[in-house]
Amino acid sequence: ANSPKIVDVAIIGAGPTGLFAAFECGMLKLSSVLIDALDAVGGQCAALYPEKPIYDIPAHPAIPAGALIDSLEAQIAPFNVPRVLSQRVEKLSGRRGDFTLTTSTGTVIHAKAVIVAAGAGAFGPNRPPLDGLEAFEQSGAIQYYVRRRSDFAGRRIVVAGGGDSALDWALSLAEIAEKVFLLHRRDRFRGAPETLSRIEAFVTEGRIEKVVPYQLHGLQGEAGVLRGVEVATLDGQVRVLEADTLLPFYGLSTDLGPIAAWNLDTTRSQIPVTPSSLETSLPGVFAIGDVASYPGKLKLILQGFAEGAMAAHAIYPIVHPDTALHFEYSTSKGTPGQP
Ligand code: FAD
Repeated sequence: ANSPKIVDVAIIGAGPTGLFAAFECGMLKLSSVLIDALDAVGGQCAALYPEKPIYDIPAHPAIPAGALIDSLEAQIAPFNVPRVLSQRVEKLSGRRGDFTLTTSTGTVIHAKAVIVAAGAGAFGPNRPPLDGLEAFEQSGAIQYYVRRRSDFAGRRIVVAGGGDSALDWALSLAEIAEKVFLLHRRDRFRGAPETLSRIEAFVTEGRIEKVVPYQLHGLQGEAGVLRGVEVATLDGQVRVLEADTLLPFYGLSTDLGPIAAWNLDTTRSQIPVTPSSLETSLPGVFAIGDVASYPGKLKLILQGFAEGAMAAHAIYPIVHPDTALHFEYSTSKGTPGQP
């Protein structure tokens, strides 16, 4: 049904590093396609924290993650890179110079080289094992990310978890919510001393109620309307928190998904690469961004950008075996994407 696509470079993952790799490919006149399992580009930045400012993007003292993605899209616009969204790449076969990728909905893509920019893989939140979870997830009564803080104004919220996300969001939402319960299965929270003292101040003011040591036990309500969150101590004493919203912050599960079954070396959640080229153990397949690992790797966007440039340069001779790449700066030839 889907007609095959033929490109120089197939980029798996349209997070910040995949987007910028498409730019670097465009600068070298390599055609590319961006494929992502999500229905929008932007990876973690768009899906997890669009409103959070990022402070370590070079030349941007502060930029909200969503705005960074908008700028990356504007930067690649001249190259008209096709996108294949809402499709997970399931299969990769072939060899250097001649790969075939197949997506979950049957799209077939032929490429001379592959850049895997899959981040944490098919990432997703760790969901609590509670009966009837799905209906509350669908209605938004249970959420794992705060996409728009203002949605939570006036709500009665249970924030579950003992790490930074739980603490930061408890503090932030306590300013606009009717009530915030902070639930943790231990007495102590893991957080910066400054954060912990702000939590204590909010507890004293009555804006946050600590519920420790308790863990999630059950959900009360019907048709997606949450009326109460059951919590229990380790010895089984149950208490019901009157709340309409539950935000579990139990971290992200990292699962390479189908990539782990491809013919390249992987660890539990990353792909080892040769640092100078970002090439994986499978010649012609490169990995950049959070998914790539090598000594000294930092899981930061700025490092992923540089890796995209290095991978594109390493790919050039695969696509043009007979042409030496005459490296030029982006300023030496007018506007990117123009002949
Ligand atoms: P991702 O952004 O994870 O994108 C990978 C994409 O690949 C995803 O969209 C996924 O759907 C897709 N994908 C995976 N497998 C497949 C497949 N088989 N088929 C199709 N698509 C697939 N970094 C900073 O530098 N500064 C910060 O201030 C900062 N703050 C952060 C705050 C939070 C709350 C979080 C969670 C992260 C933060 N990071 C920050 C880290 C930063 O977001 C990541 O380093 C960055 O998103 C990695 O980009 P990426 O393109 O490698 O992967």
